[in-house]
Amino acid sequence: MSVPVFEESNVTTPISANPVDVLIVGGGIGGLSAAYALAREGLRVRVLERAREFGEVGAGLQIAPNCTRILHDYGLLDEAKSLGVVPQSMVMRDAVDGSELTRLDLVDLEREYGFPYMVIHRSDLHGIFLRACRRAGVDLITDAPVSGYENTPSGARVTLEDGRTDEATIVIAADGLHSVARGLIVKDEPVSSSYVAYRAAVPVGQAGREVDLSEVSVHIGPHCHFVHYGLRGGQMLNQVAVFESPKALAGEEDWGTPDELDAAFAETCEDVQAGIPLMWRDRWWRMFDRDPIMTWVQGNIALLGDAAHPPLQYMAQGAIMAIEDGWVLAKHVATRRAADGAIDWPGALAAYETVRPEHCRRVLTTARAWGELWHLDGIARLQRNALLRARDIYDYSFTDWIYGPTALTPEEEPPMFTPIALDSVPAADLAEASVGMATVR
Ligand SMILES: Cc1cc2nc3c(=O)[nH]c(=O)nc-3n(C[C@H](O)[C@H](O)[C@H](O)COP(=O)(O)OP(=O)(O)OC[C@H]3O[C@@H](n4cnc5c(N)ncnc54)[C@H](O)[C@@H]3O)c2cc1C
Repeated sequence: MSVPVFEESNVTTPISANPVDVLIVGGGIGGLSAAYALAREGLRVRVLERAREFGEVGAGLQIAPNCTRILHDYGLLDEAKSLGVVPQSMVMRDAVDGSELTRLDLVDLEREYGFPYMVIHRSDLHGIFLRACRRAGVDLITDAPVSGYENTPSGARVTLEDGRTDEATIVIAADGLHSVARGLIVKDEPVSSSYVAYRAAVPVGQAGREVDLSEVSVHIGPHCHFVHYGLRGGQMLNQVAVFESPKALAGEEDWGTPDELDAAFAETCEDVQAGIPLMWRDRWWRMFDRDPIMTWVQGNIALLGDAAHPPLQYMAQGAIMAIEDGWVLAKHVATRRAADGAIDWPGALAAYETVRPEHCRRVLTTARAWGELWHLDGIARLQRNALLRARDIYDYSFTDWIYGPTALTPEEEPPMFTPIALDSVPAADLAEASVGMATVR
C-alpha cells in the first residue's frame, strides 16, 4: 500500500516519551468515547485536545436507544441515567397553532428497542467519558492544537502548532466540524444552512411557566422550530430555538443576531413565545453541515465524529454517530487481534470504513430532509401536519433504521424507511384551511 503523505515535518520534539498505540486528536464526545472504547480493548491511547481544559460548551443532548445501548455495553448507562432525564414521551406540535401533530411513547419505545431514549446535559455526558478515560488509563493532554498529519512507514505522526510532534500506530482525528485532518481526504468546506440555534439551560424555577418535563417537546413551524426538555433529574430546563436567518439569506456577514430571533418567533403560539425570553442572547450557533463523504481513512489516519460526518442537528444523532464510530472501530479491533496481541489495523480500519460512512450518509441526508419538512410554510405545512397526524404513534417503521442495534457490517445495516410524499395529501382539501393563514418569517 502506498503511504500518502499530507504534510512533511522536520521538527521532532516529542510531546511525550511514553509510546501509545492510538493517538486521538480532539477531546470532544467523539474523541473521548473512542478513546475509552479502545482503552477497554487494552490499547494504550492518548488524546490531544486543543483547548486548555476538557469540556463542552452548550446545553442538552438527546440520546436515543442506539446510543444508550452502547452506554450500557460500556457500563456507563446507569451513571448517565442518574445525571439525565428519561422522559415518557416526545411530542411534536405545530409552532403556529400549538396543536399536537404526533408523538413517540418513549416507555413503549424502550420496550421496542430494549434501551431508553434519554436527555442529558452535554457536559455531563462528556464528563462521564472523561472520568471513564481516566479510570482506563488514557493519557489526556490539553493545550495541544494539532496542525499537521503525516503517515509514516510504521504508523502516523501529528505536528502541533508549536512544532512538537507525536506518533502512534494509528491516529484518529476527532477534531470536529472544522477538522484539519479532513483535508487529507477531501477539499470541502462546511455548508451553511442559513439556520441558527439559540440555546438556554436554566433552573426549572426560572422557566416562568408550567412545563411538563415528562416530555421532550418539539414545536415545528415555518422557518423555525423550538425544542424543550428537562435536564439533571428535572432540575433544569433545556431549550433550543432554531430559525432561518433572513440576513444569512441576503448574504450579510452579521447573521443570526438576537433581533432576528425575536422576529422569527413573533407569530408562534403562546407556549413557544413564553420560552424565547429565556434564550441566551450573548452566543448563538450557526448551523453548518458538510456533504457526506465515503472515504474516512487515509493510510493510518482515520476520521471520526463530526470530522467525518457533521450533520444538521434535526435527527439529534451527531454525538450519537460519533459514539457509535468509536464503538464500531473498537469491536473490529477486538476481532482482529492475534494471539500475540498484534492487531490487523488495515483490516480493522477497512471494516470501519465499510460500514460507518453509509450509515452516516443516511443520517446526514435525512437530517437535511427532516429539517426542510419541519420548516415548511403554506399548503405544504398543512400537508405535512395531515401526514403527521395520520401516523399511528406505535408505528416504528420510521425509527427502526436508526434506533436498532448499531451495525458492524453493511449486511447488518437495516433498510431505510419508505418516505411518504407530501402530495399524497391533496392540496385542494387543505386550501380552504389555509385562507388567512399568516406566513411566519
Ligand atoms: C444545537 C445543536 C443541538 C444538537 N443536539 C444533538 C442531540 O440532541 N443529540 C446528538 O447526538 N447530537 C446533537 N448535536 C450534535 C453534536 O453536538 C455533535 O455532533 C457532537 O458534539 C460532535 O462531537 P465530536 O467530538 O465529533 O466533535 P466536537 O464536539 O466538535 O469536538 C471536537 C474536539 O476537537 C477539538 N479540536 C478541534 N480542532 C483541534 C485541533 N486542531 N487539535 C486538537 N484538538 C482539536 C475541539 O476543541 C473539540 O474538543 C447537536 C448539535 C447542535 C449544534
